[in-house]
Amino acid sequence: MSASNGSKIALVTGATRGIGFETVRQLAQAGVHTLLAGRDRGRAVDAALKLQGEGLPVEAIELDVTSTASIAAAVQEIDRKFGRLDILVNNAGIIVEDKTLPKPSQQSVAAWRETFETNVFAVVEITQAFLPLLHKAPAARIVNVSSILGSLALHTQPGSPIYDFKSIPAYNASKSAINSYSVHLAYELRDTPIKVNAVHPGYVKTDMNAGEGEIDVPTGAKTSVQMALIDADGPSGGFVYLGETLPW
Ligand code: NDP
Repeated sequence: MSASNGSKIALVTGATRGIGFETVRQLAQAGVHTLLAGRDRGRAVDAALKLQGEGLPVEAIELDVTSTASIAAAVQEIDRKFGRLDILVNNAGIIVEDKTLPKPSQQSVAAWRETFETNVFAVVEITQAFLPLLHKAPAARIVNVSSILGSLALHTQPGSPIYDFKSIPAYNASKSAINSYSVHLAYELRDTPIKVNAVHPGYVKTDMNAGEGEIDVPTGAKTSVQMALIDADGPSGGFVYLGETLPW
Protein backbone atom coordinates (compact mmCIF):
# COMPACT_ATOMS: atom_id res chain seq x y z
CA MET A 1 0.00 0.00 0.00
CA SER A 2 1.20 3.48 -0.92
CA ALA A 3 1.75 6.23 1.67
CA SER A 4 -1.35 8.43 1.84
CA ASN A 5 -0.81 9.26 5.54
CA GLY A 6 -4.30 8.05 6.40
CA SER A 7 -5.93 10.78 4.31
CA LYS A 8 -8.87 10.29 1.97
CA ILE A 9 -8.15 9.01 -1.55
CA ALA A 10 -9.78 10.76 -4.51
CA LEU A 11 -9.82 9.99 -8.23
CA VAL A 12 -10.62 12.76 -10.72
CA THR A 13 -11.12 11.75 -14.37
CA GLY A 14 -10.16 14.00 -17.28
CA ALA A 15 -7.83 15.94 -15.03
CA THR A 16 -4.98 16.86 -17.40
CA ARG A 17 -6.45 20.35 -17.89
CA GLY A 18 -9.44 22.58 -17.25
CA ILE A 19 -11.88 22.01 -14.40
CA GLY A 20 -10.55 18.51 -13.65
CA PHE A 21 -6.97 19.74 -13.12
CA GLU A 22 -8.17 22.48 -10.80
CA THR A 23 -10.44 20.04 -8.92
CA VAL A 24 -7.36 17.91 -8.23
CA ARG A 25 -5.49 20.98 -6.94
CA GLN A 26 -8.30 22.05 -4.60
CA LEU A 27 -8.93 18.53 -3.25
CA ALA A 28 -5.21 18.12 -2.60
CA GLN A 29 -5.10 21.56 -0.93
CA ALA A 30 -7.85 20.22 1.38
CA GLY A 31 -5.52 17.37 2.38
CA VAL A 32 -7.00 14.67 0.15
CA HIS A 33 -4.48 12.33 -1.53
CA THR A 34 -5.65 12.90 -5.11
CA LEU A 35 -5.13 10.77 -8.20
CA LEU A 36 -4.96 12.89 -11.33
CA ALA A 37 -6.30 10.73 -14.15
CA GLY A 38 -5.57 11.30 -17.81
CA ARG A 39 -5.87 9.18 -20.93
CA ASP A 40 -2.26 9.95 -21.88
CA ARG A 41 0.16 8.81 -19.17
CA GLY A 42 2.83 11.35 -20.11
CA ARG A 43 0.46 14.32 -19.90
CA ALA A 44 -1.03 13.04 -16.63
CA VAL A 45 2.47 12.73 -15.15
CA ASP A 46 3.38 16.26 -16.32
CA ALA A 47 0.19 17.69 -14.80
CA ALA A 48 0.75 15.83 -11.52
CA LEU A 49 4.37 17.03 -11.39
CA LYS A 50 3.16 20.61 -11.61
CA LEU A 51 0.92 20.15 -8.54
CA GLN A 52 3.57 18.14 -6.68
CA GLY A 53 5.81 21.17 -7.27
CA GLU A 54 3.25 23.16 -5.24
CA GLY A 55 3.79 20.67 -2.40
CA LEU A 56 0.45 18.93 -2.96
CA PRO A 57 -0.33 15.20 -2.41
CA VAL A 58 -1.08 14.34 -6.04
CA GLU A 59 -0.14 11.37 -8.19
CA ALA A 60 -0.82 10.54 -11.82
CA ILE A 61 -2.83 7.60 -13.06
CA GLU A 62 -3.55 6.56 -16.64
CA LEU A 63 -7.26 6.30 -17.39
CA ASP A 64 -9.00 6.52 -20.75
CA VAL A 65 -12.61 6.65 -19.63
CA THR A 66 -13.86 5.02 -22.84
CA SER A 67 -11.59 1.96 -22.52
CA THR A 68 -12.77 -1.04 -20.49
CA ALA A 69 -9.18 -2.31 -20.25
CA SER A 70 -7.91 1.06 -19.02
CA ILE A 71 -10.67 1.24 -16.39
CA ALA A 72 -9.87 -2.29 -15.18
CA ALA A 73 -6.16 -1.44 -14.91
CA ALA A 74 -6.92 1.72 -12.90
CA VAL A 75 -9.20 -0.19 -10.50
CA GLN A 76 -6.46 -2.79 -10.00
CA GLU A 77 -3.79 -0.15 -9.39
CA ILE A 78 -5.88 1.75 -6.84
CA ASP A 79 -6.94 -1.47 -5.10
CA ARG A 80 -3.29 -2.58 -4.85
CA LYS A 81 -2.04 0.79 -3.59
CA PHE A 82 -4.88 1.91 -1.32
CA GLY A 83 -7.49 -0.86 -0.98
CA ARG A 84 -10.34 1.67 -1.17
CA LEU A 85 -11.55 4.86 -2.88
CA ASP A 86 -13.17 7.69 -0.87
CA ILE A 87 -14.03 10.12 -3.68
CA LEU A 88 -14.79 9.57 -7.37
CA VAL A 89 -15.20 12.67 -9.53
CA ASN A 90 -16.50 11.75 -12.99
CA ASN A 91 -15.28 14.91 -14.68
CA ALA A 92 -14.07 13.92 -18.19
CA GLY A 93 -16.43 15.25 -20.83
CA ILE A 94 -16.50 16.25 -24.48
CA ILE A 95 -18.44 18.30 -27.02
CA VAL A 96 -17.97 16.96 -30.54
CA GLU A 97 -20.92 18.54 -32.31
CA ASP A 98 -20.59 21.12 -35.03
CA LYS A 99 -21.69 24.28 -33.22
CA THR A 100 -22.20 26.10 -36.54
CA LEU A 101 -25.06 23.89 -37.73
CA PRO A 102 -28.25 25.94 -37.40
CA LYS A 103 -30.61 23.09 -36.51
CA PRO A 104 -30.32 20.39 -33.82
CA SER A 105 -31.76 17.83 -36.26
CA GLN A 106 -28.64 18.24 -38.46
CA GLN A 107 -26.20 16.85 -35.88
CA SER A 108 -24.95 13.43 -36.96
CA VAL A 109 -25.77 10.18 -35.19
CA ALA A 110 -22.00 9.56 -35.08
CA ALA A 111 -21.62 12.72 -32.98
CA TRP A 112 -24.40 11.52 -30.66
CA ARG A 113 -22.66 8.14 -30.23
CA GLU A 114 -19.25 9.66 -29.58
CA THR A 115 -20.69 12.12 -27.06
CA PHE A 116 -22.58 9.43 -25.16
CA GLU A 117 -19.52 7.11 -25.10
CA THR A 118 -17.55 9.63 -23.03
CA ASN A 119 -20.21 11.64 -21.22
CA VAL A 120 -22.58 8.81 -20.28
CA PHE A 121 -21.47 5.22 -20.90
CA ALA A 122 -17.98 5.87 -19.49
CA VAL A 123 -19.46 7.35 -16.31
CA VAL A 124 -21.69 4.30 -15.86
CA GLU A 125 -18.82 1.87 -16.52
CA ILE A 126 -16.31 3.66 -14.27
CA THR A 127 -18.79 4.01 -11.44
CA GLN A 128 -19.75 0.34 -11.60
CA ALA A 129 -16.09 -0.69 -11.74
CA PHE A 130 -15.12 1.42 -8.72
CA LEU A 131 -18.18 0.70 -6.55
CA PRO A 132 -16.50 -2.21 -4.71
CA LEU A 133 -13.62 0.12 -3.71
CA LEU A 134 -16.06 2.93 -2.85
CA HIS A 135 -17.95 0.54 -0.55
CA LYS A 136 -14.65 -0.15 1.25
CA ALA A 137 -14.30 3.56 2.20
CA PRO A 138 -16.07 4.70 5.37
CA ALA A 139 -18.28 7.28 3.57
CA ALA A 140 -17.58 7.59 -0.14
CA ARG A 141 -18.72 10.43 -2.39
CA ILE A 142 -19.47 10.25 -6.11
CA VAL A 143 -19.58 13.53 -8.03
CA ASN A 144 -20.90 13.44 -11.59
CA VAL A 145 -19.91 16.57 -13.49
CA SER A 146 -23.04 17.47 -15.41
CA SER A 147 -24.12 20.82 -16.82
CA ILE A 148 -27.02 23.22 -16.51
CA LEU A 149 -27.46 22.38 -20.22
CA GLY A 150 -28.81 19.01 -19.06
CA SER A 151 -31.74 20.71 -17.32
CA LEU A 152 -34.94 19.95 -19.24
CA ALA A 153 -36.87 22.22 -16.88
CA LEU A 154 -34.76 25.24 -17.90
CA HIS A 155 -34.65 24.25 -21.59
CA THR A 156 -38.45 24.34 -21.67
CA GLN A 157 -38.85 27.56 -19.69
CA PRO A 158 -39.02 30.61 -21.97
CA GLY A 159 -36.75 33.34 -20.63
CA SER A 160 -34.37 30.97 -18.85
CA PRO A 161 -30.66 31.57 -19.59
CA ILE A 162 -30.46 28.35 -21.63
CA TYR A 163 -33.84 28.50 -23.41
CA ASP A 164 -32.19 29.34 -26.76
CA PHE A 165 -29.12 27.17 -26.26
CA LYS A 166 -30.13 24.13 -28.27
CA SER A 167 -27.40 23.84 -30.92
CA ILE A 168 -25.60 20.93 -29.21
CA PRO A 169 -28.42 18.49 -28.49
CA ALA A 170 -26.23 15.41 -27.99
CA TYR A 171 -24.12 17.14 -25.33
CA ASN A 172 -27.21 18.54 -23.61
CA ALA A 173 -28.96 15.15 -23.66
CA SER A 174 -25.82 13.41 -22.37
CA LYS A 175 -25.90 15.66 -19.32
CA SER A 176 -29.66 15.01 -18.85
CA ALA A 177 -28.80 11.29 -18.90
CA ILE A 178 -26.09 11.78 -16.28
CA ASN A 179 -28.56 13.64 -14.09
CA SER A 180 -30.99 10.75 -14.37
CA TYR A 181 -28.24 8.21 -13.65
CA SER A 182 -27.18 10.18 -10.56
CA VAL A 183 -30.73 10.11 -9.19
CA HIS A 184 -31.06 6.38 -9.80
CA LEU A 185 -27.69 5.56 -8.24
CA ALA A 186 -28.32 7.78 -5.20
CA TYR A 187 -31.60 5.92 -4.67
CA GLU A 188 -29.91 2.53 -4.93
CA LEU A 189 -27.27 3.60 -2.39
CA ARG A 190 -29.67 5.45 -0.05
CA ASP A 191 -29.11 3.01 2.84
CA THR A 192 -25.31 3.16 2.54
CA PRO A 193 -22.95 6.00 3.56
CA ILE A 194 -22.22 6.69 -0.14
CA LYS A 195 -23.58 9.97 -1.53
CA VAL A 196 -24.02 10.68 -5.23
CA ASN A 197 -24.58 14.13 -6.68
CA ALA A 198 -24.61 15.80 -10.08
CA VAL A 199 -22.98 19.22 -10.33
CA HIS A 200 -22.92 22.17 -12.72
CA PRO A 201 -19.50 23.85 -12.64
CA GLY A 202 -20.74 27.15 -14.09
CA TYR A 203 -19.90 28.59 -17.50
CA VAL A 204 -16.14 28.29 -17.17
CA LYS A 205 -13.25 29.70 -19.20
CA THR A 206 -11.72 26.39 -20.39
CA ASP A 207 -10.67 24.82 -23.70
CA MET A 208 -14.17 23.37 -24.01
CA ASN A 209 -15.50 26.90 -24.52
CA ALA A 210 -12.41 28.09 -26.40
CA GLY A 211 -11.55 30.19 -23.36
CA GLU A 212 -14.94 31.93 -23.30
CA GLY A 213 -17.04 31.79 -20.15
CA GLU A 214 -18.35 33.75 -17.20
CA ILE A 215 -16.17 32.39 -14.41
CA ASP A 216 -12.54 31.41 -13.93
CA VAL A 217 -11.38 27.81 -13.60
CA PRO A 218 -10.77 27.89 -9.81
CA THR A 219 -14.39 28.98 -9.28
CA GLY A 220 -15.50 26.35 -11.81
CA ALA A 221 -13.93 23.58 -9.73
CA LYS A 222 -15.55 24.69 -6.47
CA THR A 223 -18.87 22.85 -6.74
CA SER A 224 -17.18 19.50 -7.50
CA VAL A 225 -14.88 19.98 -4.51
CA GLN A 226 -17.75 21.00 -2.22
CA MET A 227 -19.79 17.93 -3.16
CA ALA A 228 -16.74 15.66 -2.88
CA LEU A 229 -16.25 16.80 0.71
CA ILE A 230 -19.85 16.96 2.01
CA ASP A 231 -20.60 15.64 5.48
CA ALA A 232 -22.95 12.82 6.40
CA ASP A 233 -25.84 15.30 6.64
CA GLY A 234 -25.21 16.60 3.10
CA PRO A 235 -27.47 15.87 0.12
CA SER A 236 -27.53 12.81 -2.13
CA GLY A 237 -29.32 12.64 -5.47
CA GLY A 238 -29.02 16.41 -5.94
CA PHE A 239 -28.12 18.70 -8.84
CA VAL A 240 -26.19 21.68 -7.53
CA TYR A 241 -24.17 24.73 -8.43
CA LEU A 242 -22.25 26.58 -5.69
CA GLY A 243 -24.66 25.43 -3.00
CA GLU A 244 -27.82 26.19 -5.04
CA THR A 245 -30.12 23.37 -6.12
CA LEU A 246 -30.81 23.46 -9.87
CA PRO A 247 -34.07 22.37 -11.52
CA TRP A 248 -33.93 19.05 -13.39
P1 NDP B 1 -11.89 20.61 -21.14
O1 NDP B 1 -12.23 20.36 -22.56
O2 NDP B 1 -11.08 21.80 -20.77
O3 NDP B 1 -11.17 19.31 -20.52
C1 NDP B 1 -11.77 18.06 -20.71
C2 NDP B 1 -10.94 17.02 -20.01
O4 NDP B 1 -11.57 15.74 -20.25
C3 NDP B 1 -9.51 16.94 -20.55
O5 NDP B 1 -8.62 16.69 -19.48
C4 NDP B 1 -9.57 15.72 -21.47
O6 NDP B 1 -8.35 15.03 -21.61
C5 NDP B 1 -10.56 14.85 -20.71
N1 NDP B 1 -11.08 13.75 -21.52
C6 NDP B 1 -11.85 13.82 -22.64
N2 NDP B 1 -12.04 12.57 -23.11
C7 NDP B 1 -11.40 11.72 -22.27
C8 NDP B 1 -11.21 10.31 -22.23
N3 NDP B 1 -11.75 9.49 -23.15
N4 NDP B 1 -10.49 9.78 -21.21
C9 NDP B 1 -9.93 10.57 -20.28
N5 NDP B 1 -10.05 11.91 -20.27
C10 NDP B 1 -10.77 12.47 -21.27
O7 NDP B 1 -13.30 20.63 -20.38
P2 NDP B 1 -13.76 21.35 -19.04
O8 NDP B 1 -12.68 21.32 -18.04
O9 NDP B 1 -14.39 22.63 -19.40
O10 NDP B 1 -14.96 20.37 -18.60
C11 NDP B 1 -14.88 19.43 -17.54
C12 NDP B 1 -16.28 18.90 -17.28
O11 NDP B 1 -17.14 19.98 -16.94
C13 NDP B 1 -16.90 18.21 -18.49
O12 NDP B 1 -17.64 17.09 -18.08
C14 NDP B 1 -17.83 19.28 -19.05
O13 NDP B 1 -18.90 18.73 -19.78
C15 NDP B 1 -18.30 19.94 -17.76
N6 NDP B 1 -18.84 21.29 -17.93
C16 NDP B 1 -18.03 22.31 -18.36
C17 NDP B 1 -18.53 23.58 -18.48
C18 NDP B 1 -17.69 24.73 -18.92
O14 NDP B 1 -18.21 25.86 -19.01
N7 NDP B 1 -16.39 24.56 -19.19
C19 NDP B 1 -19.95 23.88 -18.18
C20 NDP B 1 -20.71 22.74 -17.75
C21 NDP B 1 -20.15 21.51 -17.62
P3 NDP B 1 -7.31 15.32 -22.82
O15 NDP B 1 -6.44 16.44 -22.32
O16 NDP B 1 -6.59 14.02 -22.96
O17 NDP B 1 -8.11 15.70 -24.04
